[in-house]
Amino acid sequence: MGTEDQQRNGAERPRSGKTGRDRLLCNAKFGCIRIHAGSLRSSGSYSLQVKPGPEEPLPRTEMQDGAPARSAVSATTEHDSRRYNDPPKQKSTVLTSNPYKTRSSPFYRHIAQSTGPCNLVTTAGQIGIRPDGSVPLDPVEQIEQALTNLKHCLEAAGADVTDIMKLTYYIVDFDHTNPQQRVPILAFLGDHRPATTLVPVPKLALPGIMFEIEATAAVPQHATEKVDVVVVGAGLSGLQAAVDLQKAGLRVKVLEARDRVGGKTWSQVAQGSVCDVGAAWINDTNQSKMFGLAQRYGLDLITQNTSGNIIVDKGVGKHKVHPYGDLLADADDKEDIDDIVRVRNIFEATCQQIDISKPVESGIALRKDLDNITFEQWIRSLGCREHAVNALTIGARAMLGVEPRDMSALYFLDYCKAGGGYMLMRSDCKDGGQYLRVTEGTQSFSRGLAAELAPGALVLQSPVRSIEQRGGGVRVVSARGTFEASRVIVSVPTPLYSEIAFDPPLPAEKLAMASSTRLGDYCKMIVFYAKPWWREQGFCGLTQSCHGPFAVTRDTSVDADNHYSLTCFVVGQPARDWILLPPAERQTAVLNQIARIFGPFAKVDEPIDVVEQIWQNEQWSQGCPCPVMGPGMLTKYEDVIRASAGRVHFVGTETAFEWKGYMEGAVRSGERGAREVLLTLNKAKL
Ligand SMILES: Cc1cc2nc3c(=O)[nH]c(=O)nc-3n(C[C@H](O)[C@H](O)[C@H](O)COP(=O)(O)OP(=O)(O)OC[C@H]3O[C@@H](n4cnc5c(N)ncnc54)[C@H](O)[C@@H]3O)c2cc1C
Repeated sequence: MGTEDQQRNGAERPRSGKTGRDRLLCNAKFGCIRIHAGSLRSSGSYSLQVKPGPEEPLPRTEMQDGAPARSAVSATTEHDSRRYNDPPKQKSTVLTSNPYKTRSSPFYRHIAQSTGPCNLVTTAGQIGIRPDGSVPLDPVEQIEQALTNLKHCLEAAGADVTDIMKLTYYIVDFDHTNPQQRVPILAFLGDHRPATTLVPVPKLALPGIMFEIEATAAVPQHATEKVDVVVVGAGLSGLQAAVDLQKAGLRVKVLEARDRVGGKTWSQVAQGSVCDVGAAWINDTNQSKMFGLAQRYGLDLITQNTSGNIIVDKGVGKHKVHPYGDLLADADDKEDIDDIVRVRNIFEATCQQIDISKPVESGIALRKDLDNITFEQWIRSLGCREHAVNALTIGARAMLGVEPRDMSALYFLDYCKAGGGYMLMRSDCKDGGQYLRVTEGTQSFSRGLAAELAPGALVLQSPVRSIEQRGGGVRVVSARGTFEASRVIVSVPTPLYSEIAFDPPLPAEKLAMASSTRLGDYCKMIVFYAKPWWREQGFCGLTQSCHGPFAVTRDTSVDADNHYSLTCFVVGQPARDWILLPPAERQTAVLNQIARIFGPFAKVDEPIDVVEQIWQNEQWSQGCPCPVMGPGMLTKYEDVIRASAGRVHFVGTETAFEWKGYMEGAVRSGERGAREVLLTLNKAKL
C-alpha cells in the first residue's frame, strides 16, 4: 500500500505487476485524461495490487477522534490560473459519522445524513461501458469507466461527489485478498467517505461485466429567490451578459451546470504552467473585446511563434517543408499548388462579398444555390484537384471540427467573413485568428468576468432543466434551486436547448433550428517536451495534414515557464474514428503521426507528458467550437437563431455576427443579449 497521501489522491503506482508504464490516470475530475511520463510510447496491460488489512494508515478524516466529518470542499481547484480563482462551489450538506463502538473503516462510514435543505438524487447502476459501447477487459479499467459514468450521472443531476450519501457496488467473484476496486474508488471519492455497501455477486446482467455501482446523493438547495434576470450558463457569453446587466443595476443570477465557469474556455495546470484544452488564441486588433478583457485583467499575452518552416501534407506518407506563409512549388507539385492558390483565392473573394448582417441575401445574389449545396459540392464545382479539396478540408476541420460535406457552402462563407475572411482566420500573424495566447490561460477571461459579479450571483453545478413563462415572469428550475425573474438569457449551445423543458415550448422554428445545428468533433492532444526541439531544427511547430488523426499542430509553449508543447488538433472525421480507440492507442496514434510528419526533417524528442481533451464527451458542450448549419438551414433560420421567445433571450457565440464561433463572438453576443433585455425592461417600465 502506498502512503496516505498517495491513497488520498488516488495516485498510487502499482506496487507489483507490470513496470515501465505509469497508470493512465483519469484526473481528479474523471474528465480530461492526463497521461504521465513513463507511460508514453509503451503499451501493454497493467495491474493494480492493493492489499487490504489493518496495517493501512487511516485517511485523515478518520483520525478526527471519531468526530463527524463534513466533506472538505475547497474553494479552488487544480485548474486555477495564477490570478483568478474559480468561484467557490456550494458546500455539501452531507455529514458522515460512525456510531459508538462500531468497527470503523478507512474506506467508508456507517452513517450519512443531510443536514440542510436538499433534493435526493438516485442513480441506476453504472457499469464500465464506454461511450462507444465497448467494455474494457481489464477489471480496473472497467471500474474506472463505471466511476466515470457515475460521475456523469451525478453531474447531470447537479450533484458533486461530496454530495453522495450512499454507494452500493456489486463485484463479480469478489476476492477479498485483492480488492481491485479500492484505489479507483478512493481516487473518485477524494476525502469523502459515504455509507457504502459492497455486494459480491456471481454474475451481473451482461456477460463480461465485473462491476456495477449506484449512488444516492443529497443536492443542496437554495431557497427560491426572485431576481431581475436569470442567465443560464457561465461561459463567456452568459458571463458578459450578466456583468453588463449588473452594471445597469439589475439583480442577476447565473446558473452554471459545470463545477467551474468558462464553458469552452478551460485552462489546466500542466508542467508548471497553464495549458488551454479549449479556446487558446485571440488578437489585439479586430478582436477588440478580447483584447480589452486581456487588458482589464492584466493578462500576459504570448505572440504565436511563426518563425521557421511549416510542414504540409503532400498526400499519404509524403510531406513537404515550406516557409511560414508561403507555398513553394517545385516541378512535381506546381499544378497542385497553383490549383490550391486559385481555389483559395476564389473562396476568399467570394467570402469577402458576403454581408454578415444579411448573409442569405448577399450570398444568394452571388450564386443562387449557395445555401442549398454543401461546401464540398461548391469547391468541387470550381473544378479543383484533390489537393485543393484536401487543403480546404483541413481548414474546415481545424476551424469547426466538421467535414466540408457537413455544412452549407453559404454557412461556411459567412462564418469566415464573420472573422474577416478565411485567410485572416487561419492566420497566426498580426490580425489573425491565432495571433496571441494567454500565459494565464483563456479561462482567466471567464474567471475575471465571474469575479465582477456580486457575491452569490453565480451558482455552479446547477444545470437548468426547465424554464416556465407564467403570469408576467419566468420560473427557472435548476438542480440547486428555483429562481424567478422578469427575463431569462439562455447561453447554452443550440444543440443543448433540447435538454431544457421550455413551458410553453419554444416556437417550432426555434426548436427545428436548434436540432438541425451540429457541433464539431474536436479534440486536443497537447504533447509536452523538455525542450522545443522543432524550433532548434528550424520549424515553427505548425504542421497540416489531411491524413489524421490530427489535422494541425501548433507550438503552444510558454517559454517563461520553460513549458514546451505542441498542440495537436484531432478534428472532423479522423476524430470520429480516433475517439473510438482505447486511450493508449489514441496517444500512440498521435505520437506516431508527429514522428511521421517531422521525422523525415528533424530529430523528434521523446515527450514528457500528454494532456488529452475530447469535447464530444463533455455533457455540457457535446462538441465544439460552434454549431454549424447544413444545406438550406441558414435560409430558414438566419434570424431565428437570435430571436427571443417571449421573455427568454438567446446568446452564445453561434448567435454572433462577428467572430461567430470564437471567444470574441461569445462576448459580443453576451453584450447584445444584455442590451436586448435592458431595452425590453425599460420599455416595460414606460
Ligand atoms: C478546443 C477548442 C478550441 C477553441 N479555440 C478557440 C480559439 O483559439 N480562439 C477563440 O476565440 N475561440 C476558440 N474556441 C471557441 C470558444 O471557446 C467559444 O466560442 C466560446 O468560449 C463560447 O462561449 P459561449 O458562452 O458561447 O459558450 P460556452 O462556452 O459553451 O458556454 C455555455 C455554458 O453553458 C453551460 N450549460 C450548458 N447547458 C446548461 C444547462 N442546462 N444549465 C446551465 N448551464 C448549462 C455550459 O457548461 C457552459 O459553461 C475554441 C473552443 C474549443 C472547445
